[in-house]
Amino acid sequence: MAVPKQKHTKSRRNKRRMHIFTKASVLTKCPKCGQLILPHTVCPYCGYYKGVEVIDVLKKLTKKERKKKEKEMKVKKREGEEKTKEKPLTWEKMSQK
Ligand SMILES: [Zn+2]
Repeated sequence: MAVPKQKHTKSRRNKRRMHIFTKASVLTKCPKCGQLILPHTVCPYCGYYKGVEVIDVLKKLTKKERKKKEKEMKVKKREGEEKTKEKPLTWEKMSQK
């Protein structure tokens, strides 16, 4: 069996391990519901990917949960619509910038 000839110091060990660490996962916003999700994956909250519904999110839920989720989705949809409506800039706002 190979046996180490000399002791490796803590410094040497730590220098070797300086590249070993976990990175925070990169998250993007779902364009449909605005939740933070992993990029290039189907959104687990609304079941949409590239503007197409891939998963029926409401299918597995119980009646009570389904009603709650539908309500949440409606509220988010309204918020999204309000945000898009606010977009047109007035001359006053443009002059401020
Ligand atoms: Zn989503």
